[in-house]
Parts: sequence; structure tokens; C-alpha cells
Amino acid sequence: MTTPDRRSSADVIALAKQYLIGNYTRYPVCLVRGDGSWVWDAEGKRYLDLFPGWGCGLLGHCPPRIVTAVQAQVAELIHVPNTWYTAPQADLAKALSDRTGWGGVCFFCNSGAEANEAAIKLARLHGRPRGRYKVVTMTNSFHGRTFGALSATAQPKYHAGLEPMLPGFLYAPHGDLDAVAKLIDTETAAILLEPIQGEGGINLPPAGYLEGLRKLCDQNGLLLMLDEVQTGMGRTGKWYAHQHWNIVPDVVTLAKAVAGGVALGGLITKPEVGALLKPGTHAATFGGNPLACRAALALIDTFDADHLLDRAVQVGERFRRHFLALKEKCPLVTEVRIKGAMIGVQLAVDGAAVVQKCLDRGVLINSTHQTVLRLLPAVNITDEQIDAGCGVIADVLLNHQA
Ligand SMILES: *Cc1c(COP(=O)(O)O)cnc(C)c1O
Repeated sequence: MTTPDRRSSADVIALAKQYLIGNYTRYPVCLVRGDGSWVWDAEGKRYLDLFPGWGCGLLGHCPPRIVTAVQAQVAELIHVPNTWYTAPQADLAKALSDRTGWGGVCFFCNSGAEANEAAIKLARLHGRPRGRYKVVTMTNSFHGRTFGALSATAQPKYHAGLEPMLPGFLYAPHGDLDAVAKLIDTETAAILLEPIQGEGGINLPPAGYLEGLRKLCDQNGLLLMLDEVQTGMGRTGKWYAHQHWNIVPDVVTLAKAVAGGVALGGLITKPEVGALLKPGTHAATFGGNPLACRAALALIDTFDADHLLDRAVQVGERFRRHFLALKEKCPLVTEVRIKGAMIGVQLAVDGAAVVQKCLDRGVLINSTHQTVLRLLPAVNITDEQIDAGCGVIADVLLNHQA
């Protein structure tokens, strides 16, 4: 055991302010330790974390099987490049493929943006022989901060000051099938979207939308590429959120929760599409390293052993009961959007002040798209923790002066 860091939040924050670039909005809290849905700051104050790791903490903080697996792996082999084979990487590829139900082969990287970059490359390689390179994406999408993924992200506020974007991206209003059909021409290669929009405010697809997009792709020879970076690996009650609908995608991208908080991204695709990524076309030095892959395998083991796909659904339904009851009493709540442990509460007011008040009361949540409270709780959160957290959020909203 190392000796715990005894510095105060104020000391660490002063240091960070001096030496870190200020590209994040941070709360003045220095976190030092976590356990499940609890997390503690440097002063020993405990918080209930309903947004662990910005969606990466699907099993909460320091889940025991991941801790044990990483501790074992770090002493065996930390990183080797992809010029060699490792068992954790091969095992993880099989585990992810088995869970698609349609086979699939994997490429590994380290983040969601990178996973989407690989998907965009696949779209171009797939379309090239027919002169196709354009990708249709949806308004209010979020695909990451690198230039390809950013160009795919149809939100002008994220492009501001960074233009020009990568050419070849066309944006359709989310949920509008006809608008997508109108954008498709002889140069279109793929459609890329989140099956449930996360950062855009927990937006579920309208009935028939994903099936309709699949049909458009089939009719036009396009790849249907699903960004499951936020929805993937069991969060919604299925391994991949698209499994709630009757579709088979061509490409699925993953990151965030896939290794329970250890940095890992990946892409799963049909073998004939995967074959387009040949040596020299794409690579990631850290991608699929044994440490991250062991963590991801431990996450899958935990889901299987503890029946967490079912639990994700129960978690969502418990939050739904709380928030629908609140909606009856509180005019600030206008809609509740939930799929498993992916929870959006639409407010009639700005969410930032609500998040701050919850923080003051020891409950960590997020607000996105100005007016949506977003919760991405751990699926192993207890009923008592859900009730306590919802109690605080309800109290804050019922006493909130907009
Ligand atoms: C977070 C997110 C990304 C970007 O992931 P990074 O790991 O931050 O690059 C991409 N797509 C979706 C849907 C996300 O939620």
C-alpha cells in the first residue's frame, strides 16, 4: 500500500490551475477514492455518484473483478504493440463478437473519437471503388473531438473557431427518415448515428427509424454505422443498444464503459468490411493493450456473474418511477427519457444550477444540451442509493427558482 495523499482539495486545485490548460469546466472538488456508486473527496466528504466516470463507470468505482484483473495483468505484461499477439486481446475480440449475434471482427483503440475515426475510414474504403465517400449524420449527435469525429458531430457549437471541417459530412434532423433519404446521392458511403443520442440529451429513436435507416442503407449499398460509445456494453439492458430494435448494423463503435473506466475503444464490423483495414491503412499504438483488454473481460464476467443486463433494466425502471412521480408534482420536469441505466430528465429550465445544488447536497449528476439532466448510473447501484439520489434531486427541483 502506498501512503494516501493528504493534500487538501485547495492545494491540488491551486497546482492544477497553475499547470493545466483550462479546457474543462471543473467543480472545485478533488476526488481521491471511490467504491461502487460512492466517491470521496480529499476532505473525506462522501458523494453519491449518479454519473460515474462520465459514463465509463458502468460498474461504479473500483469494481472488484476489474481491480483484481488489472492488478494481475499489470505485473505480467502492461503493453506490447500489435506486432505481437496477446491472449487478452484475442479473448476480448471473441467475447465482443459473440455478443453481437451476427459475428463480427474487432479493431481496438483507446477512445470513442478514435473508434469513430476508424469507422469513417472504413466508410471511405468501402465506398471508394464506387466513388462514394460522404457520411450522413444526425443533428445533436456527438461523435468525439478529433477532426473526423468532430466533422461527424452535427452541432455547430463544437465546430466554432475550428473550421474548416473535414469535407463529406451531411447532417439530417435526428429522427427524420425522409430527410436522410433526400441527402443520399451517388457519393454517399455510410450513415453514422448513435442508436440513442447521449450528449444530445438522451434522445430515443422514433419508432421505425433505425429499421428505416437499415433499409435505406440496403437499397443504396451504404454502411450503417452505430456509435455505441455511450450506449454500449450493457448499459441499456442489452449488450449493444441496437439489439432493442430489429436491425443488424455493419459497424459498431465502443469506448467509455467497455473496460469499466480503463481507457479502451473499439470497433466491431462484419468480416468482409473489416477486411478493408489492411496493414498500413490504420493502427493505434496503445490499442487493445493487455491491461485494457483484461479490464474489459472482467467487466463482461461481472455482468454475466451478477446478471447485470437484467439489473440495468430494473435500475432504469426504478429511476422512471421516481422521475414520473416528480413530473406530476414539479412543472420544471417536462419529459423523462430512459433506457436502462441511461436516464434523461427534460427540464423547462437550464440544468447547470440544478447540478450545482445536487453537488452541494452530495449527489453527482450531469446536465447536457442546456436543459437535460443526464444520469448514467452504475448498473450495480443499490435500490437504496437510487431512492436517496432521487430524493435529493426531487427536493432540489421542487425548491428550485428558475
Ligand atoms: C463520449 C462519446 C464519444 C467520444 O468519446 P471519447 O472517448 O471522449 O473520444 C463519441 N461518441 C459518443 C456517443 C460519446 O458519448
